[in-house]
Amino acid sequence: MCGIVGGVAERNIINILIEGLKRLEYRGYDSAGVALLDNEGLSIYKKKGKVSELEKYLSTNGDLKSKIGIGHTRWATHGEPNDVNAHPHYSSSEKFAMIHNGIIENYADIKKNLIAKGVEFRSETDTEVLVQLIEYIQVKKKLDLLTAVQVALRQVIGAYAIAILDKRNPNQIIAARKQ
Ligand code: GLU
Repeated sequence: MCGIVGGVAERNIINILIEGLKRLEYRGYDSAGVALLDNEGLSIYKKKGKVSELEKYLSTNGDLKSKIGIGHTRWATHGEPNDVNAHPHYSSSEKFAMIHNGIIENYADIKKNLIAKGVEFRSETDTEVLVQLIEYIQVKKKLDLLTAVQVALRQVIGAYAIAILDKRNPNQIIAARKQ
């Protein structure tokens, strides 16, 4: 069982996310990551290994500041534990970043359809399939993100908790869960 954490704050969110991930460590995990959103844009930092490795990696990236963010500890089910398969995952355009706890059971069929439509994948995860599906629907149907998430989740079989950041909306985290 992995863990997900998200937050919006007046102060820098990074330590809040790291603290949240540390509290979830007891659940077991193989990698950890965060997505941060500030004036510079939407950035993802992720590493195979412990939350302390992620913390070290963040500290080598200068003076990071963000008032909104999401964080994840992963227990791999689809794709080996490595930096690429660690969460968060970007959508193709890198406008969305998503974390996910659980399994998308019908990910293979959805992935096949998206590949046929020209979507390219970076990771082996079921999670990336969902964030790509959300972006595909959002763009194709010209929907706001919340509606696109709702439409996408109707196509998904499985149990999950997700949280998504949108580069164009620095005041919002969309979250959903099933079971
Ligand atoms: N199925 C996803 C993956 O393998 C999420 C696993 C989890 O719940 O940590 O990346």
